[in-house]
Formats: sequence, structure tokens, C-alpha cells
Amino acid sequence: MTISLDPRDWKYFSQGAANVIFQFSNNSGLNTSTTNLEDPQLCLLRLRKKIKDLPTTVDNWSFIENSVIPLTNGYMASMKLVKIDTELLLALNDKAGQSSDNFPFFELNISESHGILMQNLRPPHLMAANKNKYLHISTFFSDFLRSAFIEFKPKWLVQSLSAPSNSRYCRTCAVKQMRGKSHQITYCPLQLLKKNAQDVKKLVDRLLGDTLDEIWHPIIGLCLHKVVMESPVFSIIKSIQEMCQKSIVDYSDTEDLDNEFGLFMSACDCTLLINIMTNNIQAERDVLTIKEGETTYFISCKLVDLDKKNIISPIKRKHWKSIEEKLINEGWYTGINSNSAHQLPSCF
Ligand SMILES: [Zn+2]
Repeated sequence: MTISLDPRDWKYFSQGAANVIFQFSNNSGLNTSTTNLEDPQLCLLRLRKKIKDLPTTVDNWSFIENSVIPLTNGYMASMKLVKIDTELLLALNDKAGQSSDNFPFFELNISESHGILMQNLRPPHLMAANKNKYLHISTFFSDFLRSAFIEFKPKWLVQSLSAPSNSRYCRTCAVKQMRGKSHQITYCPLQLLKKNAQDVKKLVDRLLGDTLDEIWHPIIGLCLHKVVMESPVFSIIKSIQEMCQKSIVDYSDTEDLDNEFGLFMSACDCTLLINIMTNNIQAERDVLTIKEGETTYFISCKLVDLDKKNIISPIKRKHWKSIEEKLINEGWYTGINSNSAHQLPSCF
């Protein structure tokens, strides 16, 4: 697959810690019916930032294609590896920080030879995101179409294998307490695996908080409830995390971290995208539906950000190990060290 290498065709879309995403905008007047973008849904180009020891796009793609996609049962967002050239990277880097072009600052790795073309799951015309401490929610409302788009990171859906047997807290809640953020958490990621309708309702209320208006709150509440109760997506993330049989502290200093550990770390950092629409424009398979009055909402879930982690970096490895040792040795799992003013209920 080839794509437009004309920088005018790519506008800034978003960025994370390791990647910048551009959206195809066809400003150069390219004839898209005969060239490029064979699949118009694949309109986001994800390029690597200049970060020391970051796996290259080709390395990352090999990991995604061979290790991740076979485990995600069709729930990964569609993507393809595409060839790019240095001129495009240089031109996009030149635009970084130019507010007139709506490009914030970033620095791409100009030695990259490839990018990843991705499906854009975000419905058009969405309002700016409502953001609370767990979720980004964007919504659109008209006489003809209602749509909402939710992004969030489910985090660790399994307990750390090196947590003490008498732990009160899961890995995510223990870390939050260690970092003094326990007053910010009112839900535990392990609850995403619950299938009891009452428990899930409480979880959804906590996740949404007071982020939404009175129109969207009940609709998105019902849709999220449906996703937690019926979508296999959380079990898929959990099953990838469960493939790793060792905690970071169980690897001896002379032993390399293996592919299962890499998959585990990726699955702990993945993002879930939930698209809610009153029509099934994207014709996704495995959509869930909710009927509210005369309106049917179609809900599709996709995973992104299951990227190859830099497991060969001694600095990263030391960092991950020191967090785990601190959680164990300072009693954050067992709750001995919790600040009593903000002590959370047990996760188990
Ligand atoms: Zn927890």
C-alpha cells in the first residue's frame, strides 16, 4: 500500500508519549479513487517521535502483526504498515509548533522509513472532549445523528504476580496510593471484569462522575454498562496479561525479559476506544446495540496503543523493578502504608 507523501495532505490529529498522529486531508487534490488510501477508513498516519531506544515502526509493526493481532480476536483497530520518506518527515517536523497550521510542538524521528496507517474510529463533527480523571468523552447531537466517542485505559486487569498473598489492593490501586493519588480514585480496574448488573451500574456511575449533561449521562451510562457486561474486550486484555507467568522481580539480572513480558506491559498500557452512534456507518462487526425509546445506539469497541515496549532498555527495566519492589517492601499492596485519610476499600 502506498500513501500520499505530500505534507499538505496530512494535518495534525493528536500525539502521545511516543507517536504523533496525522489525518489525511487531501489538500493536494489527489485523486483518491485511483491512488492511495485504498480503504478510506484508514486515514490516520502514526509516526514515531524522536526518543532514545524507542522500537522503530518496523519493529513495532512486527510485534503488533505477529504477537498482538492474533490474540485480540478482531478487536484491534485496523492498521497497515506503510512506507514513508524523509522529505515528508522533515516537512512535518518543520510544521511542528506552528500555531497558524494548528500544529503543536513535536519532534519526529527522521530516520524512520515507515509509518502505520490506522482506522479513524472517531465519528466526524464531535464536540471537544469532556475529560474526567478516567475517560475522555466526545459527543455530537443533532436531529439526525447522535454519536459519542470514549477513550480510556483499562490498565492492569490482573493482580501483580509478586503481590503478597494478603494484599488488599490490586496493582493499579496500590500504585495510586503510593503516589498519593488515592483521593482521585473511586473505582478499581478489576471491577471491569464483573458481570453483576448492580456492581457494574455502580462502576459506571463512578467512571462517568458528573462529566456529562442530563441528555448524555443516561445514554452513555447504559452503553458503558452494556460494554462492561457483554463485550469480551476486557477479558481479551486480561488473557494477554495472564500469559506472562513472571513478575518483573522474578527475572534474574542475567535473564532477558521475554516476549510474554513485553506483551504484558503493552496490554497494561493499551487504550480502549468505544464508539457510540445512532447509525452503524462504519459497519463494524461485533457491535452491541441499545434501544432507548425509538432510537437504536450501535456500540463498537476497538483496542489501540498495544505497542512494543522497550524491554531491552536497562533503564526501563530498573524503573519497572524499583516500582514493584517499593510496592511490596513499603506495604502498598497490603495497605499497611496507606494514608488512613484516603484509605480505599479493598479491591478483593
Ligand atoms: Zn484495585
